[in-house]
Amino acid sequence: MRTWIPNTRNFAYLNWKQVDALPRESTLLVLPTAAIEQHGPHLPLATDTLINNLLLGQALEKLPKELPVYALPPVHYGKSNEHIGFPGTLSVSASTFMAVLRDLGSSISSAGFKKLVLYNTHGGNTSLIDVMARDLRAEFGLRTFALHGSGGIAFEGLNPQERAYGFHAGEVETAFLLASVPDLVDRSAYTVNYIADIEKPELLRPENASAVFAWLTRDIAASGVLGDPRPATPENGARWIEEAATYLAAALEVMSRYPNQPTK
Ligand SMILES: [Zn+2]
Repeated sequence: MRTWIPNTRNFAYLNWKQVDALPRESTLLVLPTAAIEQHGPHLPLATDTLINNLLLGQALEKLPKELPVYALPPVHYGKSNEHIGFPGTLSVSASTFMAVLRDLGSSISSAGFKKLVLYNTHGGNTSLIDVMARDLRAEFGLRTFALHGSGGIAFEGLNPQERAYGFHAGEVETAFLLASVPDLVDRSAYTVNYIADIEKPELLRPENASAVFAWLTRDIAASGVLGDPRPATPENGARWIEEAATYLAAALEVMSRYPNQPTK
C-alpha cells in the first residue's frame, strides 16, 4: 500500500535499538484504523485507508521536528459489515477488531510507552474506537486519545444535502482521491444515491438523530454509493486535505504535549 507517512516518523521503519532510544514518557504513537470495503463502482476498496494515510502523513509533515510522534502501521481491516454483499469488502467482527487494538495496546504498554492515539477514518469503527480508547486507558494506564476523520473541518463548498447525507463514496472522499491518487478514480462510473432528503425531515432518520434505523448498504444503495461524487474536484480535494491536515497536526501537537499524570 502506498504511504505518505514521512520516513522519519514511520515507526515500522525503525529498528529495535532506535525504538529503545525513544523517550518513553513523551513519545506519542498514532495507530491508524480504517477499512477495506466497497466504495461504489468508482473508488477503490482501500479508500478509507488511503485517506487516513494521506491526511496523517500531511499532518505529520507539519509537526515541529522536536516532537516525538510516530505513526504505527495501520489496522487495514475494520468492522465493515454494513457493506457485506459487495465483492471486495473484507470485514472483521467487533470483537476481533477490539481484540487487535487491545493486543497492540498491550505490546505498546509493555514496551514502556505511555501515549497512544487511535486515528480512525471509517465510520463503522467509530463506536468501537471510543470503547477501546477508554479500555486501553483503564487496563494499561496508557494515555489514550481518539481522533476521527477530517477533524470536523468546514468543507466549504459542499451543498447542504451532501453535507447531511453524503456518507460514503460521495463528494468528499472522491475529491480526496482525485487530489492524491487520481488514477484510482473511475470518473466514468459515478452513481448518485441519497437515502434521505433534507427538504423532508423525518422523525426516523439513518443517522445523527435520536430515532435512527440500522442500515445495511445493500438495503438502501444498489451501487454502494451514499451521496453524490459528481461535483468532486481535485482543487477542492487539495484544499480540504490541507485544512484537515492542519487540524490534525494541531490536535496531535496538543496530545503530544498533554500531561501523562492526572492534573491536580
Ligand atoms: Zn469511506
